[in-house]
Amino acid sequence: MPTAGTTKKKNALRQKHVPQRTCVVCRETNAKRTLIRVVRTSETSYEIDPTGRANGRGAYLCDKPSCWAKAATTPILAKALRVSPNEASVQRLQEFAAGLTDNDVEPTETAERS
Ligand SMILES: [Zn+2]
Repeated sequence: MPTAGTTKKKNALRQKHVPQRTCVVCRETNAKRTLIRVVRTSETSYEIDPTGRANGRGAYLCDKPSCWAKAATTPILAKALRVSPNEASVQRLQEFAAGLTDNDVEPTETAERS
């Protein structure tokens, strides 16, 4: 179904100075700091870039474990970064996904426990 020609540019983008990024998996937009950057390190690899400053093509993912799981099991992220990820890269994503939790509470090592 051709949908060309239906794109309208809206000039109503009135935003503050909060940089917004879009998760490449779920397409949700969020403040930059709540997303995690993945940077392409070669044609066959990418790495998680916690600083968000590494050189190279980057893509952002939100902190939902489901998005990271999808990034590891679908071509979405690979396409965004134009990478054919090797096993190590995919594994890194899976490990990262495993370390994420679904609840909003950040796990802190200094959590007060009786
Ligand atoms: Zn997401």
